[in-house]
Amino acid sequence: MQVAREEIIVLGTGGTIAGRAASAADNVGYRAGELGVDELLRGVPVPPGVRLHAEEVAQIDSKDMDFAVWATLAGRCAHWLAQEDVAGVVVTHGTDTMEETAFFLHRVLGPGKPVVLTGAMRPATSAAPDGPQNLADAIAVAADPQVRGVCVVFAGAVHGASDVQKVHSYRTDAFSSGDAGPLAYVEEGRLRVLRPWPGPATKGAAPALLRPAAWPRVEILVNHAGAGRAIVDALVKDGVAGLVVAGTGNGTVNHALEAGLLEAQQHGVAVRRASRCAQGRVLPTPNDRLPAAVGLSPVKARIALMLELMP
Ligand code: ASP
Repeated sequence: MQVAREEIIVLGTGGTIAGRAASAADNVGYRAGELGVDELLRGVPVPPGVRLHAEEVAQIDSKDMDFAVWATLAGRCAHWLAQEDVAGVVVTHGTDTMEETAFFLHRVLGPGKPVVLTGAMRPATSAAPDGPQNLADAIAVAADPQVRGVCVVFAGAVHGASDVQKVHSYRTDAFSSGDAGPLAYVEEGRLRVLRPWPGPATKGAAPALLRPAAWPRVEILVNHAGAGRAIVDALVKDGVAGLVVAGTGNGTVNHALEAGLLEAQQHGVAVRRASRCAQGRVLPTPNDRLPAAVGLSPVKARIALMLELMP
């Protein structure tokens, strides 16, 4: 007999959606991660036949997201997704690193059910908060049987984990999927699907996932006018396992930085080239001596490399 999937799990991690300011007019001078996930759900409409279960995983400003919280969050998502009556998981999250957490969960869970991240640009105490609508939309998306895998629901749009980026520091419509565009829109609790849903990522089952202290250290650096190799040399000396360079344009780096990176690579440090451009992707060429992180932003290339190097 098939069990009806009617439960949506809402995992709280903090962020502006749970933020509190001294005045309703203040949309920037707030403390993130103050309200509990139960409080966020109060009054939020739920699709017919759906039950919600809330759980607090963390209470942080997502600028402070770290490996320990990621490991716990991935564990809680995996636990709930394995329950037959659970249709999907919603994660409330700060916007600053939401794209990183989405991509991390995409790569480590590769879920067949929906895992939907959402948040807010204005605190819960704002005169016009955006969190309640985003949360209602995220729950509707998680309950939709067409949806699978990890996505971000924000300002009425559904973004895939691989494409989504925070592109604005203040506007409520702060996320974009760049050239790819959103997967769908959410309109009055219904999905308007725009393009084929991406398949699940190949699930990485590294044993070290449960031991965040053992995760390999991968750092990001930037090519810019006058960039030198001093940072590379210092990081190699400090025992870094991998380096992602946010190159200029098509992932290019200047001569000094390239020399440093090639030497690092010779010494066993894994190097990937991404682009500091907000849109587009690094296109590899036959003569590349430093491998391109094709299609990944620097922060996502860092996660991909970290998982690749994970024992
Ligand atoms: N600093 C906040 C955070 O990422 C910003 C937000 O949630 O919009 O937690």
